[in-house]
Amino acid sequence: LEAKEEFSHKTLAMDVMRPRRNDPPLTVITQDSMTVEDVEAIINETTYSGYPVVVSRESQRLVGFVLRRDLIISIENARKKQDGIVSTSIIYFTDHSPPLPPSSPSMLKLRSILDLSPFTVTDQTPMEIVVDIFRKLGLRQCLVTHNGKLLGIITKKDVLKHIAQLANQDPDSILFN
Ligand code: ADP
Repeated sequence: LEAKEEFSHKTLAMDVMRPRRNDPPLTVITQDSMTVEDVEAIINETTYSGYPVVVSRESQRLVGFVLRRDLIISIENARKKQDGIVSTSIIYFTDHSPPLPPSSPSMLKLRSILDLSPFTVTDQTPMEIVVDIFRKLGLRQCLVTHNGKLLGIITKKDVLKHIAQLANQDPDSILFN
């Protein structure tokens, strides 16, 4: 058995979310400042099922969540079928996109593939509640915020691992699950 404090402290969303303390930061996409090649690089360098979209890196304000597979399909389609979409085209997830100078490449509007209300909890939410929400709402992932800023993500698999860990530490908990 682990130290007693494992039992006296409740596990919170911040203890289960990724990234962990020394991990690289969350991979996010900004709503109006990344190019097609920036986003393709993210798709190629990571295997996550989805990416939070934020107002800007500095603000870390959450705008929505975009699935990796929807991004791949939309960019592939746009490159094939939409005139003027090149590596340096800016991707917009915003409602309105600014008028571009005549010489700049066409922009790629992807607001339609954005989930504008992904489920979020604060970092202080007890995991018991998070587990309950995942079960009842059938969530695939949930974003974690602190003071309105995006902090991390918890996937269904993260929740399942957390439950498995609890069961190992505390055999009685199996009876309740
Ligand atoms: P799964 O948890 O089903 O393997 P993912 O491949 O999306 O789903 O996530 C793998 C791990 O990476 C999980 O622990 C998750 O919390 C974390 N993760 C998911 N999306 C991101 C992201 N955009 N940036 C950083 N970490 C992420």
